[in-house]
Amino acid sequence: MTTVFTNFVGGEATASGIRTQSVFNPANGETTGQVSLSTVAETEAAIANAKQAFPAWAAKTPLTRSRVMFKFKQLIEDNIDYLAELITQQHGKVHSDARGEVIRGLEVVEFACGIPHLLKGEHSESVGTAVDAWSLNQALGVVAGITPFNFPAMVPMWMFPIAIACGNTFILKPSEKDPGAPLFMAELFKQAGLPDGVFNVVNGDKESVDVLLTHADIQAVSFVGSTPVAEYIYSTASAHGKRVQALGGAKNHMVVMPDADIDQAVNALMGAAYGSAGERCMAISVAVAVGDVADVLVEKLAPKVAALKVGNGMDAEMEMGPLVSKEHLAKVRGYVDSGVAQGANLVVDGRDLQVEGAPEGFFIGGCLFDNVTTDMTIYQEEIFGPVLVVVRVPDYDTAVRIINDHEYGNGTAIFTRDGDAARQFTHEIQVGMVGVNVPIPVPMAFHSFGGWKRSLFGPLHMHGSDGVRFYTRKKAVTSRWPTGIRGGAEFVMPTMK
Ligand code: NAD
Repeated sequence: MTTVFTNFVGGEATASGIRTQSVFNPANGETTGQVSLSTVAETEAAIANAKQAFPAWAAKTPLTRSRVMFKFKQLIEDNIDYLAELITQQHGKVHSDARGEVIRGLEVVEFACGIPHLLKGEHSESVGTAVDAWSLNQALGVVAGITPFNFPAMVPMWMFPIAIACGNTFILKPSEKDPGAPLFMAELFKQAGLPDGVFNVVNGDKESVDVLLTHADIQAVSFVGSTPVAEYIYSTASAHGKRVQALGGAKNHMVVMPDADIDQAVNALMGAAYGSAGERCMAISVAVAVGDVADVLVEKLAPKVAALKVGNGMDAEMEMGPLVSKEHLAKVRGYVDSGVAQGANLVVDGRDLQVEGAPEGFFIGGCLFDNVTTDMTIYQEEIFGPVLVVVRVPDYDTAVRIINDHEYGNGTAIFTRDGDAARQFTHEIQVGMVGVNVPIPVPMAFHSFGGWKRSLFGPLHMHGSDGVRFYTRKKAVTSRWPTGIRGGAEFVMPTMK
């Protein structure tokens, strides 16, 4: 059966259907639905709807907004298996991993339930004689989020729970590849009692994104996706006067020191490089083997990579599902071909993997390269597939230098038993999120998520205290009552006494 993925605007499913695009099940290549690609007029109508809903929503007490959030949290918990199923059937990742994604998003909803506390300003009594000062954190208005295919539930949840709890109204433009989970979350939010027009989903492509970046009624834009698009979003929306946070691509290195627990490092690399078929912005795609550790590392990794269980993500036995699309599969294969052509040693070749009963599925097996050098394309560019490259370096200083020289700076990790080396690494590495014997150091909801260098454009990271700062504007009030000190007119710069 073919499903139609519409928009969700003003509490209703709506779409003109003038432009549409197919949605696939990557595990068998079948077309399972059509997603509506919004026109300029449809996007403008959604903005108008969100603008109308803003004053009443912003006027609700933070506690009232928090109570809606608590109900939404419960509904997500009640529907977690179904949400994960939607993700697996459109993205391809295995169902247990999709559940994990929903839980990591849910943690931001839980954080946003505490919004009365998070919105508190600062207060100073007697900044001058009989004069008090305090600050308020107020909502911005209509804000937009544009999200990637690889976390259709979690990445939107990095944004909208905090934005909405702060009193904003929100327009989500999710990836056109897997629109099922975002639309279902919009329905759940309505069931939770969220007023119509506060959370809207506008499906679409560049046509609708460009409206969100330039429209006078959009106050802020959050983006997560690839670096070229992040840079475009940042420059265009900033030029139109909006505050912007735009998170981009990654090439995450994991340093394995000679004193590391090798089995721990190997298991960490398996999960971090091949989990979700490498389609994670925090996936480890480069293992930096320091000193003489490379031989044993590759020796232990190779049989595990070759033995990965690859198949339909709804099969509980599977460790890795397909890639998201036929085009992406061709791109990842192309990268592997280029690695071979440029002289890297392809120790495990997953290019010709056939999954029984699914000849049209977008599958590739795990690939492992050794002796990769920093001038190779497979080292420099983000592959976003199950391809791990091993770079051999003589010492710790070289490991740090190549990481700091790389254009991306999203996540990194060091595996070592040496606390001194770990401390130095966390201090000097030019990367936004760092793990010590933790391969994927994704911060919890009450901390903030963001990379450095060309992995993030804009000053603020996502969720945590940065999220509250991003979605609110500060107002500073200085106040004196008529009973305070009276005097005549003052013509000098006021100073407090
Ligand atoms: P993408 O950049 O192709 O698309 C992201 C969003 O932008 C989608 O909603 C898409 O419709 C829209 N878009 C695409 N091209 C556009 C254009 N020319 N103009 C306007 N809008 C456009 O990214 P993707 O392929 O969906 O996701 C994978 C990428 O996202 C990877 O590079 C990955 O590293 C990155 N990512 C980063 C993080 C992070 O936190 N830094 C997290 C997840 C994913």
